Parts: sequence; C-alpha cells; structure tokens
Amino acid sequence: MENTVQVGQRFPLTIKRLDINGRGLGYYKRKITFVTGALPQEVVVAEVTAVHDRYLEATTHRIKQASPDRVTPSEPLFGQIGGVELNHLAYPAQLNFKRDVVAQSLAKFKPTGWQHYDLRPTIGAAHPLHYRNKAQFPVRLIDGHVRAGLYAPNSHKLIPLTTFATQRPLTMQVTIALCGMLEDLQVPIYDEAHHSGIVKTLVVRESVATGEVQVTFVTNSAKLPHHLQLLERIAQELPMVVSVSQNLNPGTTSLIWGAKTTLLAGQPYITERLLGRDFAVSPQAFLQLNPEQTEILYQEALKALALTPQATLVDAYAGIGTIGLSLADQAKTVRGMEIIPEAVTAANYNAQQNGITNAHYAVGTAEALFPQWLAQGFKPDALIVDPPRAGLEPAFIQALLKAAPKQFVYISCNPSTLARDLVVLTKRYQVDYIQSVDMFPQTARCEAVVKFTRR
Ligand code: SAH
Repeated sequence: MENTVQVGQRFPLTIKRLDINGRGLGYYKRKITFVTGALPQEVVVAEVTAVHDRYLEATTHRIKQASPDRVTPSEPLFGQIGGVELNHLAYPAQLNFKRDVVAQSLAKFKPTGWQHYDLRPTIGAAHPLHYRNKAQFPVRLIDGHVRAGLYAPNSHKLIPLTTFATQRPLTMQVTIALCGMLEDLQVPIYDEAHHSGIVKTLVVRESVATGEVQVTFVTNSAKLPHHLQLLERIAQELPMVVSVSQNLNPGTTSLIWGAKTTLLAGQPYITERLLGRDFAVSPQAFLQLNPEQTEILYQEALKALALTPQATLVDAYAGIGTIGLSLADQAKTVRGMEIIPEAVTAANYNAQQNGITNAHYAVGTAEALFPQWLAQGFKPDALIVDPPRAGLEPAFIQALLKAAPKQFVYISCNPSTLARDLVVLTKRYQVDYIQSVDMFPQTARCEAVVKFTRR
C-alpha cells in the first residue's frame, strides 16, 4: 500500500513559489503542498495540517534555509491570525509577488494573447503599514471583558487585538474605547454558541482628510440596551466620532452586515477627500480601504481611460461615485449604477456637494441597468467597471460587447475573476497593459487596472 501522509507529520520541503493566497508551494513526493509562512527558495520543515486527495496543507514548523527576502514580521500575532499573510516578506518582494499573481491567473484562464500582455511592475505604497481606514471586528465577551479582534484561522475563536499592522491607529483606539464603554455599561455582547446577546460587530471608519470617525454597532436585535448612556459617553470621550449608527443583523448568518441601518447620533455621513473632491460616506457604503493608494489607483484609471471632453462615461459598480465624480470635469456626462441604495443617495449628494451637474447615479445592478439603458438608446463612449471580487456578470459582459464603447477600463480586485472575464472580453477588446496597484500591503490581495483598445 502507498504510504499515506498523516496530519501532524513533518518533512523537509523546498518552496518553489507563492500561490495566489501567499502560501509557499512545494512538492512532497510529487504532491502539491501549500505551506503557510514559507517563502520561495526556502527549505523548511513543513508540518501537515490537512490531507486532501490532490494536495496537502501545512504550516512552517522550522526554517532550515531562509529566503534573502525574509523579514521579521512587524505584526506580533503574525502566524496566528489572517490579514497579514505577507508580513514576513520584504516589501519589494511583495510587489513582485502581486504582479506574479496576475501572471498566474492569466496562465490559468489563458485569455487571447495572454502571453504578450504588458504586465507593468506593481505600484507600491509609500506607507505599507497602518493604512486601513476601517476597523471591522467581531466583539465577544472573554473572561468578563469585552474584546474586539480577529478569528484564529478556520475557527471562531476570537483573538483580541489592541493594535494591528495594517490598521490606522485611530481606528484601533476608537474600537478599544468602545469595548470599554460596552463593558462598563454591561451592554449584552453576542454569544455565538448560544446565539444570545446583542452587539456582534464594531465597525469604525476614519476619514483621513478630515479626521472624522463613523461608528456602527452591528446588533443581533433592534434593541440596544443603555444606548443613551453609550451615546453620551461617545460624545464626551470620543469627540472625533461624528456619526453613530446601528445595523440590525439578526440570525446566524456569516455576513457581517444586515439590511437595515439606523442613525443613532450625529450626522449620517463622514467626509473623505479624494483627488480634491469631498465625498460623503454612509455607514454601509463601500469606500476603498487605503485612501493614499486610492488616489494613485484612480489616477491610473484616468490615465488608462484617456477621456475626451465629449465623452459619455459610465461608472459601473460606482459605490459613492468616487471614480465617476473624479472624472466628471473631463467628460460630457457621467452615468453610474450601484446596488446599495444608500451609496447611490450618497453618490448623487456628492455630485451636488462638489458642484457637479453632469453626473447622475441610479440604484440597480450593472447587469440589469446597463442593458436597459442600451435598449433605451443610450450610447456610451467610455466605460469604467470596478466590480467586487466576483467579477462581472455574463449578462453585463454581453451588453458591454454589444455596446462596445471605444474607451474601456476594468479595475479588478481579484485577478482570478479578471482573467476569467478577459477570456470573453478579448473577443472585442485587446489588452494594452495591466497595471497592478498595491492597495493592501502585507496581504496577498491584488488590485489591477486594465487598459483596453477596441479591436
Ligand atoms: N467604484 C467604487 C466602488 C467599488 S467596490 C469605489 O472605487 O469606491 C464595488 C461596488 O459594487 C460596491 O459598492 C458594491 O456595492 C457594488 N456592487 C456589487 N454588486 C453589484 C452589481 N451587481 N451591480 C452594481 N453594483 C454592484
């Protein structure tokens, strides 16, 4: 009988490369082995954590021969929690990895001409630590104390955090102060095992331009006991918090947000500034997590789009309109769509606040609204898409290929779905280049701008 590998077994392994999730990849008796914490060219002692038919999963038990790119992780909890998968890799090597993730995804899906795409070196961040403007952490009662943090991998065991390598310090300070208030006031904290208690998640978002902070309590019930005292203490002790909301998310769903958000105190928005424009941000609306890199990303998109003043521009997957409104003065009109109603309200409000009269945003999915607009005779000259990780819907791609706007740019936060979508898109469009931008230093996540020319 063939020797079977057991969980817990250890063996030396040479690491060939990093997979798209930032794990070291090697071959143990010709079987693919993914090793967390191991880097290319290293020899490690791997310890098996899971055995599958086609591959093994392992952790790094010991490093026998270290990569020259290995650095001491700045996050003390590296290895115990997710969110900092590349914290042990020197930053220039992180950037090379991100370009390589795009290459690996293309090699997997093989869209037309993929071998010849111009994959530009990833644009790095000036500040690769403490960049995240939003802390979104589950809260639990641990030994009588209210703690916020991250789950240990593959578990629901909360590891409390007081700082975190990628979080802006203010987001952590406010999170911890709120935990203290919840504890003092004995507000019931959610207990997953018994599905009891109330406060599930704390969301703290900071505007880097204005210093304003937005707080959302995600709760298991509509009732939030002692909320008046809570709001009073926030007003007294956390003057930077100008917007406090409650989001109702009952049930045992794994989604963080429920459908309904209610303003508890202050204003419904905080204001962030990007490329010289002010953007009102509502609690549930998407906003890029790394404001400094967002401006670079948008400038790359703008450059790739090469708008003409007469252009009719579509801003698809618009969020609060940050991209379209940044470009509105360079186009004749901007039309956008977005699925979250409150984000669309914010987008139209943002147009007005910035004195932009040629942009309008509508509520709906890109795959439903865009074909509808085309059927009504709408003819876009330029289109920018910025979908979530799932990429573009087939119905949207079909409408896009039919309308075939001359200028087209795809901003992707997931190279796999991008490469998949390119297989179809390259029937009508040629890929001029792919510019990756590092929006998420220390993680394996990769963002890319694709410039196309219509065939
Ligand atoms: N362009 C914006 C938002 C990008 S994130 C920015 O740079 O900030 C992607 C956005 O697409 C999110 O706001 C999400 O709510 C929205 N969305 C998700 N699925 C959608 C769909 N099918 N149609 C339209 N918008 C969608």
